[in-house]
Amino acid sequence: MSGENGKRAHWRSLDELADTPEFRELVSAEFPGLEEDIADPATRREFVKILGASLGMVGLTSCRWPKEMILPFASQPAGRAPGVAVQYATAMELCGATVGLLVTSYDGRPVKIEGNPLHPASLGAASAPAQAAVLELYDPARSRQPVRREGGKEARQSWEDFDAFATPHFNGLRASRGRGLAILSEASSSPTLARLRVGLVEALPEARWYGWEPLSRDNELEGARLAFGRSVRGVPDLSRARVIVSLDGDLLAGHPDALRLAREFAATRRGDGGEMNRLFAAEPVPSVTGAAADHRLALAAGSIPALASSIAAGLAAHGVAVPEALRKPARALDARAERFAAAAAADLAVARGRSLIVAGPRQPAEVHALAWILNEALGAFGATLRAVDDPDGDRESHVQSVTGLAGRLRAGEVETLLILGGNAAYDAPADLGLADLIGRARVSIHLSLHDNETSRRCAWHVPRAHFLESWGDARAWDGTVSVQQPLIEALYGGRTPLELVAALSGARVESARDLVRATPTDGSGSPLGEAGWRRALHDGVVEGSGLPPVRVSVRAEAAGPVAARLGVGAGRGTEAVFLADASVHDGRFANNAWLQELPDPITRVTWDNAALVGPATAAELGVRHGEMVALTAGERSIEIAACVVPGVAEGVIGLPLGYGRRAAGPVGDGVGFDVYPLRVSEAPHAVKVDVRGLGRSYVLASTQDHHAIDAIGMEERGRRIGELIVEAEWAEYRRDPDAIRRERHEPKPLALFGELEYGGDHQWGMTIDLSACIGCNACAVACQAENNIPVVGKKQVARGREMHWIRVDRYFKGSPEAPAVAFQPVACQHCENAPCESVCPVAATVHSSEGLNSMVYNRCVGTRYCSNNCPYKVRRFNYFNYFKRTSQVEKMAFNPDVTVRARGVMEKCTFCVQRIESVKIAAKNERRPIADGAIVPACAQTCPTEAIVFGDLRDPSSRVSQLHRHPRAYSLLAELNVQPRNRYLAKLRNPSSGAEEA
Ligand code: SF4
Ligand code: SF4
Repeated sequence: MSGENGKRAHWRSLDELADTPEFRELVSAEFPGLEEDIADPATRREFVKILGASLGMVGLTSCRWPKEMILPFASQPAGRAPGVAVQYATAMELCGATVGLLVTSYDGRPVKIEGNPLHPASLGAASAPAQAAVLELYDPARSRQPVRREGGKEARQSWEDFDAFATPHFNGLRASRGRGLAILSEASSSPTLARLRVGLVEALPEARWYGWEPLSRDNELEGARLAFGRSVRGVPDLSRARVIVSLDGDLLAGHPDALRLAREFAATRRGDGGEMNRLFAAEPVPSVTGAAADHRLALAAGSIPALASSIAAGLAAHGVAVPEALRKPARALDARAERFAAAAAADLAVARGRSLIVAGPRQPAEVHALAWILNEALGAFGATLRAVDDPDGDRESHVQSVTGLAGRLRAGEVETLLILGGNAAYDAPADLGLADLIGRARVSIHLSLHDNETSRRCAWHVPRAHFLESWGDARAWDGTVSVQQPLIEALYGGRTPLELVAALSGARVESARDLVRATPTDGSGSPLGEAGWRRALHDGVVEGSGLPPVRVSVRAEAAGPVAARLGVGAGRGTEAVFLADASVHDGRFANNAWLQELPDPITRVTWDNAALVGPATAAELGVRHGEMVALTAGERSIEIAACVVPGVAEGVIGLPLGYGRRAAGPVGDGVGFDVYPLRVSEAPHAVKVDVRGLGRSYVLASTQDHHAIDAIGMEERGRRIGELIVEAEWAEYRRDPDAIRRERHEPKPLALFGELEYGGDHQWGMTIDLSACIGCNACAVACQAENNIPVVGKKQVARGREMHWIRVDRYFKGSPEAPAVAFQPVACQHCENAPCESVCPVAATVHSSEGLNSMVYNRCVGTRYCSNNCPYKVRRFNYFNYFKRTSQVEKMAFNPDVTVRARGVMEKCTFCVQRIESVKIAAKNERRPIADGAIVPACAQTCPTEAIVFGDLRDPSSRVSQLHRHPRAYSLLAELNVQPRNRYLAKLRNPSSGAEEA
């Protein structure tokens, strides 16, 4: 089933599409980079930097731990068994919204983070950053002591020193009613912090509170005020939506409720229930949501308001009650965009009451207001959308707030500046010059996990306790409150924002736990009783704390001003749009090596950001992939490497934020390019730039062509290989569900030596649903955390030596300017006729009686014949002892149930054999059979879309057996007769019948 002209329909990179010699060399070289050997002295230094971030740690940790803590128990405490994992519920807040987590802990040592199934924003799933928080907890570069900076000198201080300074200083502030005090806080949804803030304002009425969050959702709030005159937020319900239009948003990966939304979205993508949703997405740079769309329009962010206006006009033409002022398009668009708008409007109108329009945070308030207006006209409220009062809704925008602070600092009106978290000196709008203004305050204090860019501008840096080691509380996007309970005593001490604010306001506090315990959270107006508190700790959610829906109706006078603002032109020139980075977000996770090494879902670039530009725009600008370019906006300029990415809108450059850090820590410092200097308060989302190629090249460590399945090479060697990604249109599939199976025509040749006989009670197998997978990468981090998989650093990734046991291949299809995207997670396929086993000279890779393709590490002598013979390219070789210099504190993140592999062995997916065995042992001890679904590998457990299903193929009624027999099921490279135990379910698309491809 090769594509036309001998080419395949799906391609991973422009090099593959063009079949360049570079691509052919990469896929034919089994072990790329071998000639640049491991003797490279820089390599060793790099490992020291990444993996053993501080050798001094060892001495410090040995001082830190009170001796009695490492003594064995003389008698075992009741309810505690050494070496047995226990799970506790807690919560992680990011940009003012929370997801609920379950943290697995061994002997008081958190090792693995999963989603809390009882939490409405998590439903059991966890994102890559949430899972990687365990590495952040054990980051040896976290601050251990307060730091005092004065007159160009800095000195480490004890906590007693800090308290000796802070207590009289805070007393003095209270005595002066907070005169000259400014507090700058990152976004927080904590009910306790909100309560303490009220107390603070009473105790210190002259103090001023400011907020700054670089990736805030302020425009959404402002849009609600425009539409309703009220500060509400929208809580979408995709389970009921049949037509969804996303206007420059990333509902499935970038929204605060993304895990739930992804679950709901995927539930109706499988084509099993007689219905399938349809997603239209318009965006400047491909996102996870755009990649999942049935119709994706690559369009500059500045043209999206006009597109939204065209959709409104289209809806009016279809009889939807759109206000008069919005019934005409604001301005003309090109034919492609007009077709997209017409198709979206037609489908929205047909699906009235089951449709939804969502605008992204980059879009101005008027687009959000229009989305609210159209959603009301479409009957979305109460069906696919509910409005809830924003708990922090009365505030000004973050840009206004931080601008106000900068003004007061400039005017010398701030005596004491207390900064609670964040990194404003690095990420505040560049035109404010906040980094330099901080020094104008007589006293400045920064509470932070790391001694970062902002800390270094302050007189005091105060270490912050990690969320896994401190008490707190926070709200999910729908308002549900979770208690953040600590899993471990603070490794380096540390304070929390709650404790600092309480100390400042003079509250008598024994502990942060008491502060949280005293906060009313369930809407009753009084703190939880003992039973309610215990239940909240156990379940991870406070029952009845979700925000109730509110009735809102669009103000009659709203439409006119919205229509007028939609017509403002996008202007000429290249548009640079700022993007949240899929790994480091706004830069806060820059020192997390798991996240740095996680390939970007779309570009597959690791350890870097880049200026993302489409092929046509790159050609127009005369810029090559990997070439350094200068981007200039007025007097501001940066240099950054260009990365040519199919699907970026014409005239657009995407700039992921969060790189080029200078004080992130040894892992994150100097990685990538700082694009914040181009971001100004007037234009925090997009800015016009001049682009100039600099001629210099830069190496981007992209994994997009690594471990490519060489289907073309196999065909050249006489095999006929079917498409690796099998797709069908929903309408066709519904008409003839067996068509996929018939077309695949998977042969089952006779075995030369008879079928393999298995003696085990179980036969393990897996399915991965390509229709559900959105390419979010959560499975890759879950596997890394569960299986002690090392990071290798940029240089090794560039040589194709990344160690991930599960990779998420991203394929394009169609034209490079407007391609469709598909994702395919690939791990070991546990083949029945495993080609790796037959070539291993020392029987280090063997078949188990339950059908697992097992690795016996201590037999492996590193010939790598197995990897050479694996058609799926899923085996990973340890070229180095990546853990050799891992510090004691980092070793606490290891899963004790999984071997830490040494140098020179081959490793790969084991189907999480440790999880299989622990369930088997428990079932055996309790003399009961293993229930279907009781064994859940880490990747399947965390997947927000439940794309991965694992189970026993010997049980014909198990879910995995049923899915193996599903009409959409197919085996990758079935033609080779290796008989993989993994099967994929074909991807379904649901294009609009009336629309040409946009
Ligand atoms: Fe994300 Fe992996 Fe699930 Fe795909 S399979 S949706 S990449 S977690
Ligand atoms: Fe990794 Fe386990 Fe999933 Fe295999 S089954 S890819 S080892 S998480």
